[in-house]
Amino acid sequence: MPIASLTPCPSYIGGEWLTSAVAGTPVYNPSTGEVIAECPAGGAAEINAAVAAAAAAFPAWRDTPPVERARVFFRYRHLYEQNFDRICATVSREHGKTLAEARGSAFRGLENIEYACGIPTLLFGDTLENVARNVDCETLLQPLGVCAGITPFNFPAMVPLWMFPLALACGNTFILKPSEKVPLTAVLLVELLEQAGLPKGVMNLVHGGRECVDTLLTHPLVRAVSFVGSTPIAKYIYETGTRHGKRVQANGGAKNYIVVMPDADVPKTVEALSAAAFGCAGERCMAGSTAIAVGAAAERMLPSLIAAAKAIRVGPTDRAAQPDMGPVITGAHRDRVRSLIATGEAEGAQIVCDGRGVRVPDAPNGFYVGATIVDRVQNEMTLAREEVFGPVLNVMRMEDLDHAIEQANRSAYGNGAAIFTNSGGAAREFKHRVKAGMVGINVGVPATMAMFPFTGWDASFFGDLHIQGREAVQFYTQQKVVTTRWLGGNAADVWRK
Ligand code: NAD
Repeated sequence: MPIASLTPCPSYIGGEWLTSAVAGTPVYNPSTGEVIAECPAGGAAEINAAVAAAAAAFPAWRDTPPVERARVFFRYRHLYEQNFDRICATVSREHGKTLAEARGSAFRGLENIEYACGIPTLLFGDTLENVARNVDCETLLQPLGVCAGITPFNFPAMVPLWMFPLALACGNTFILKPSEKVPLTAVLLVELLEQAGLPKGVMNLVHGGRECVDTLLTHPLVRAVSFVGSTPIAKYIYETGTRHGKRVQANGGAKNYIVVMPDADVPKTVEALSAAAFGCAGERCMAGSTAIAVGAAAERMLPSLIAAAKAIRVGPTDRAAQPDMGPVITGAHRDRVRSLIATGEAEGAQIVCDGRGVRVPDAPNGFYVGATIVDRVQNEMTLAREEVFGPVLNVMRMEDLDHAIEQANRSAYGNGAAIFTNSGGAAREFKHRVKAGMVGINVGVPATMAMFPFTGWDASFFGDLHIQGREAVQFYTQQKVVTTRWLGGNAADVWRK
């Protein structure tokens, strides 16, 4: 493909857009398999320059009143809405989400910008008058300094927006290192931030891989790192960052269980289960990847679940006629998903809907896997333990709710879990006992909105304060407690003078 047709992918450091001369990694349109851009392989030099710019911009931005910082985000919100279709088209083109999925996730991102617009009240501290006679105490929430965000491929707009609007609104400066598989949406998000009037150096964007990440994790001026990605890397980020004295919040992978009770409403459950397992081609950390059918639930729901999966139209997402499901991110990932399905079969599970052979004649080089359902999965099988991150739904069968909860709680992860039932008692028992940070009751994907923390547990999260909501405000600020003794005796004297 001629270079001229590639979409530019510049970095943004200290308010300047920079094109890297260093060869990078290809960015694909997963719908067609074509290379659409080259993501620069930035390294220590770019990160050091970005940290220096962010550190220089920090004092003035920290001292900008919160209402003025909020105004930048009101303008950003407006620009984001004006450019919404462009953002969604870019997400769809470089990631492969359908436009409906891109819109849904871009709305979740918008809510994070809106949350950041409320920063003046989010930064309220506490006061207590008269902690001792004539002595008052107040808490101040102050920004940390230079913060960094390292993001995955699966939500090119939403996940960066989980991080930088709130970090910046709190008064920090920021360096975003997006996934090298989807860097173009990040460029667009930062262009809009520049248009919103953010001062130079406050927001920086550097592309690259491990060298960039390691430089951020060890740089003495980086105070906090937000990470979202796979569990092994999340663990590495947490351990390396904290060893170098940084605050770290690191979201990892997941394996989410959905328990279906015999009394569940079959059509509604099938619709929700199918969306949870196959939405975004299964490439989301809140995907419902294993259904646990309790008692008669398997026989009641499986025929319509299989019919629903077989009806899912797979195809390219970059055209006017939209499919139900798009491709996965790369050819290598498609092959991994197919091979995990084959492993499941070899280990004795039953493939009741097989998406491995899906054909997409009008996009033969795209990275497609069709919706797949694997029945009678057992806990020891690879499919029960490994995050597949593709459109594959495991079905396990259990005799009662106790066994279902026990199975869900065997997971090393702890992101999401859901139950479908009409019984209040079963729902209460489940929400109380299940080992997961985000729980759905008759909701298949209980991903939290911007005002709530994204509360992964266990191998799904490393850190103390989660992304989003008040916990994130705490993460991006440090508290100062000021104790004041009011001298001068009787205040009434002041008015008399
Ligand atoms: P990934 O871990 O491969 O990459 C994430 C980021 O880490 C990227 O920016 C990448 O450049 C960087 N990176 C990759 N390898 C690295 C290394 N060896 N050293 C330093 N940095 C490295 O994840 P991905 O494949 O882009 O995203 C999918 C994963 O993200 C899935 O496991 C999914 O569950 C997880 N995820 C989790 C959440 C959550 O909130 N828990 C949300 C979205 C995605």
